[in-house]
Amino acid sequence: MKALEKSHPEAGLWMVQAPVPEIGPDEVLIKVRKTGICGTDIHIWNWDDWASATVPTPMITGHEFAGEIVEIGRDVTGLSIGQRCSGEGHLIGTDSRQSRAGKFHLDPGTRGIGVNEQGAFAQYLRLPAFNVVPLPASIPDEIGAILDPLGNAVHTALSFDLLGEDVLITGAGPIGIMAAAVARHAGARNVVITDINPDRLKLAEHVVPTVRAVDVRNEALEDVIHELGMKEGFDVGLEMSGNQVALDQMVESLVMGGKIALLGIPPGKSPVDWSRIVFKAITIKGVYGREMFETWYKMIAMLENGLDVSRVITHEFAVDQFRDGFEAMLSGRSGKVVLNWA
Ligand code: NAD
Ligand code: ZN
Repeated sequence: MKALEKSHPEAGLWMVQAPVPEIGPDEVLIKVRKTGICGTDIHIWNWDDWASATVPTPMITGHEFAGEIVEIGRDVTGLSIGQRCSGEGHLIGTDSRQSRAGKFHLDPGTRGIGVNEQGAFAQYLRLPAFNVVPLPASIPDEIGAILDPLGNAVHTALSFDLLGEDVLITGAGPIGIMAAAVARHAGARNVVITDINPDRLKLAEHVVPTVRAVDVRNEALEDVIHELGMKEGFDVGLEMSGNQVALDQMVESLVMGGKIALLGIPPGKSPVDWSRIVFKAITIKGVYGREMFETWYKMIAMLENGLDVSRVITHEFAVDQFRDGFEAMLSGRSGKVVLNWA
């Protein structure tokens, strides 16, 4: 089969011929139709410090996918050949206290497909049946291929009650933009998204026309708070940039007792003004991945009931043009980039 592989410990990915994976009794084989390129894949493409310390080679990359089940292990029940699906790319153990309590996404021994295990940038993917998420007919393959990052957005956005609340999202990358759509869907009053990249802010307005997009290089959040008639500031902050300046701005513009869900990953240790957080009585929640499988349940329910994130996909390429796909991602101007395998 064709697969996009990190064959050598250096920048780039290579299209190779790899054997079709053999499945175990609890696994299924998925014929991949579409995949999304993630920021993680860009780290692996660039072969930065994180990637070179984490990813063994050779490794088939990719973890955002939609496809169809073509083979089923002998102990698998409840799934069928021909079933369209996406799936959770985190492979978990069952021995930890968290797993045994049903908090699968908090298992400390988690391994990621496309990072620690052979991934989804391939014509066929082996996956534990446990991780499979069937797709309803109303969700097309390209949306199925971006449920992983939509799940990050949903997990973060639903961390706190948003109904009637004023929500600040810092970072208008694909995940921040999808979180804005989710916040709207969840009934937030004002949704404001910040960035320092005008292309990203334009895309945010294109995907979520009712969002107030703010270029923090030219506009102060304080002025936006007054413009929108908020009395004291934002109730909830969703940090999706990984940038220290954005986090500081968020802390400053929240109400007393405000809440922050942190998804963005800072590049290293970053200084935080803890006394400001204490005196503002702010609650902070770190968010990792998606809840298995409550986030999947909620996002499919929302997609089936009017949540529309389709315009966040700005590029689709046949997989043989994968270089164009990575170039679009590396430009910093794209939304989600989807590769077609079928
Ligand atoms: P992205 O890099 O495409 O988007 C981040 C955006 O933040 C960019 O548009 C950038 O211009 C913007 N930004 C930079 N400085 C800013 C500032 N001072 N103020 C406002 N915006 C600023 O990333 P993405 O794919 O949308 O992911 C969002 C974040 O979530 C990233 O940090 C990513 O590493 C992280 N992430 C975390 C998890 C997790 O499980 N915790 C999973 C996926 C992604
Ligand atoms: Zn991803």
